[in-house]
Amino acid sequence: MPADCLFCRIAAGEIPATRVHEDDTIVAIRDVNPQAPTHILLMPIAHIGSAADLTAADAPLLGRLFATAAELARSEGLDNGWRLVANVGPEGGQTVPHLHLHLLGGRSMHWPPG
Ligand code: AMP
Ligand code: ZN
Repeated sequence: MPADCLFCRIAAGEIPATRVHEDDTIVAIRDVNPQAPTHILLMPIAHIGSAADLTAADAPLLGRLFATAAELARSEGLDNGWRLVANVGPEGGQTVPHLHLHLLGGRSMHWPPG
């Protein structure tokens, strides 16, 4: 794991975060600067820089990330809908270079996003 990667360190438990899910592959935490009533970040424990680094071999991981997002959306009571976002690179708005999905819900979302 890259020693200076914030989300590797959070996944390893070296930096505190509010965990809402943890298994052998995935950690989900509450975003420290929430943009909606529910704002959860889902990430693989193993370091992947961004969605730009994914290959077809990552399909099982992505299936688990999406299924975990759906489980969390259910447990958060987001029955009217929710949004999953993966920011990629500087122009995509990515600030932490460790793959993560934003699960946002609890308010109406706008389109197109900013
Ligand atoms: P992105 O800009 O897509 O890379 O998303 C990074 C997200 O991580 C932002 O929404 C930040 O608010 C969030 N974030 C940064 N540091 C922490 C932290 N220590 N704990 C929880 N969320 C964080
Ligand atoms: Zn990392």
